[in-house]
Amino acid sequence: MANPWREHPKLRGRLHAENPDDVQVIVHDGGPRLTDHAPELVWVTVTSCDGAVFSGRVLNQPVQLTSVCEGSEITFVVPDSGAHAIMVTEKYLRERPDWIIQPCHQCGFSELFDAPSDLMRAVFPGPQPDDLMMELFTAFCGVCGGVQVVQPRDAKLGEDSTPAPFQPSPKKWWQFWR
Ligand SMILES: [Zn+2]
Repeated sequence: MANPWREHPKLRGRLHAENPDDVQVIVHDGGPRLTDHAPELVWVTVTSCDGAVFSGRVLNQPVQLTSVCEGSEITFVVPDSGAHAIMVTEKYLRERPDWIIQPCHQCGFSELFDAPSDLMRAVFPGPQPDDLMMELFTAFCGVCGGVQVVQPRDAKLGEDSTPAPFQPSPKKWWQFWR
């Protein structure tokens, strides 16, 4: 088939009825921690797909975004839950397998707008202690402003991979909700 994405399960029910290569995608300059530019929904013509990662060309001119314009070639994914496909960066796709993103408690969106490492720097600015073991952090949903909990898929156990001996430790300031 010339355009295999037309039958892709991720795009089922999302493609334009008359232009079956076109799908609506949220484009953005980053999430609410990193930019105050609001995300926008545009039509994108799919040009290729690799597994569940799609590439396409933006058909509309966003109103106030700086990183995307009409004609931009973008990469996007369709979240497991949430209403719309979302533009992603190469960096995001590289980091994404290492993280578990709990769906937004308001709209169910299950991806982030920013690469987890960029988001972590925004959440925890300044120098970080070497022994910082990130258990989880919260992000604001880029779609609705709700809360998403983000955690590493494998909590790091140190260089030698030996589990650290158990030590009762006071709660860190970012664990206040536990
Ligand atoms: Zn949301």
